[in-house]
Amino acid sequence: MPLTIPFDTTYLSLPDRFYSEVAAAPASAPQLIAFNRDLATELGLDIADMSDADAANIFSGNDVPSNAVPFAQVYAGHQFGGFSPRLGDGRAMHLGEIDGPAGRVDIQLKGSGPTPYSRNGDGRAWVGPVLREYLMSCAMQALDIPTTKALAAVLTGDPVLREQGRLPGAVLTRVAASHIRVGTFQYFAAQRDVEALHLLTDYTIQRHYPDATDPLQLFEMVMQKQATLVAKWMSVGFIHGVMNTDNVQIAGETIDYGPCAFMDVYHPDTVFSSIDRQGRYAYSNQGPITHWNLAQLATSLVQILPDTDKAIADFTAILDRFPALFEDEWAKAFAPKLGLAPSDETTLLAKDLLALMAEKGADFTNTFSTLDETQTLYPDWHARWRAAAPDDALWQKTNPQIIPRTHKIEQAIQAATHGDFDPFHEMLDAVKSPFTPNAAYAQPPKEAEKVHQTFCGT
Ligand code: AMP
Ligand code: MG
Repeated sequence: MPLTIPFDTTYLSLPDRFYSEVAAAPASAPQLIAFNRDLATELGLDIADMSDADAANIFSGNDVPSNAVPFAQVYAGHQFGGFSPRLGDGRAMHLGEIDGPAGRVDIQLKGSGPTPYSRNGDGRAWVGPVLREYLMSCAMQALDIPTTKALAAVLTGDPVLREQGRLPGAVLTRVAASHIRVGTFQYFAAQRDVEALHLLTDYTIQRHYPDATDPLQLFEMVMQKQATLVAKWMSVGFIHGVMNTDNVQIAGETIDYGPCAFMDVYHPDTVFSSIDRQGRYAYSNQGPITHWNLAQLATSLVQILPDTDKAIADFTAILDRFPALFEDEWAKAFAPKLGLAPSDETTLLAKDLLALMAEKGADFTNTFSTLDETQTLYPDWHARWRAAAPDDALWQKTNPQIIPRTHKIEQAIQAATHGDFDPFHEMLDAVKSPFTPNAAYAQPPKEAEKVHQTFCGT
């Protein structure tokens, strides 16, 4: 039975210059890889009678629900520091918004074909990045870190051409609080389209920050969300990889899982993305880069305030608080990992442990999940930690045992490329239970299994 999705798409009430209506490219043989029934239920979708074939048709874009008006959003963004005035959904299409029991969300197909914003790309995705995003976003959710969510993954039956050759095409269905990015504001700011900036600001306040009474308050709330989010990433060893301003979501969810990774061996300078040659988005640079990205949002918002000099002074005063705010969020995220309350001494203990881990090349996740074993490796640190009287139950329940390790993701993708989805499903089960012991997924990679870079692979 075809699924009726009760779309109620408010973004379409914004002027035409915010988006383009689009159609999905047909998929020749859609086949369901995964469908997140829990999420569908959470969203209030009526899936009881939906077959896998129905799901494959809908979530490949073949069978667009009759009440959907598919569209692609326009945005701009600083990519590795350089400004691109016009990006936009180049390989994604919004089916629409639903206002369900879990609140208002966007439902978007990623990899469903070209849009007016595709520039040189084909608008398609291959199965690798689709499965990576599926695994990563499910893991984030299980770790209680704000993230966009994967609703479905579907093979299209059509190969896509990438550097590695012909690869199976796939579509990911993504659910997000919204897809408004710092880059959405930058798009209109770059054109000095003050009217659109006003509309976007009002829309964002209404949808995400109803308590904000002006752009400065909105900005302050976005800054708080970003500081919390990035501190949480760091507390699980996550490296986003492409923190361009178009990949910074205003609602504060992790978005656009490209060449991202959870670190195995801890080192603050770790970079995974093959295109990040300067280490701009290295693990330990994620706080400072968030500050920089927020400055770009502030620069855009200045335009809608009447007194420019005052606006610049006011935004600057808020932005200047970011480093202290981030330190604070970092301390709050790391303290329970040690089983301690946040304090200057706890922060020092955490930083000293990380320095020792970097020196020894320790595994990030496993060091924290077996903190009581640090006695053999770092006896002096262990004695200081014990003297601080940590709560063992607290650090044990805070530190995950299972994260989606890069080599396991690569193995699952390799198998999927050859039609075997068992490793993907097995891994999905493992990352959904990060606090359950699971030897096969807790092991760091063997030398031959190590993956040193992840590629955009779009
Ligand atoms: P990302 O690296 O995912 O943040 O993407 C940056 C920009 O490139 C976005 O505007 C995407 O829509 C666009 N893009 C990425 N991959 C493709 C593709 N295969 N076809 C068209 N546009 C793409
Ligand atoms: Mg992006």
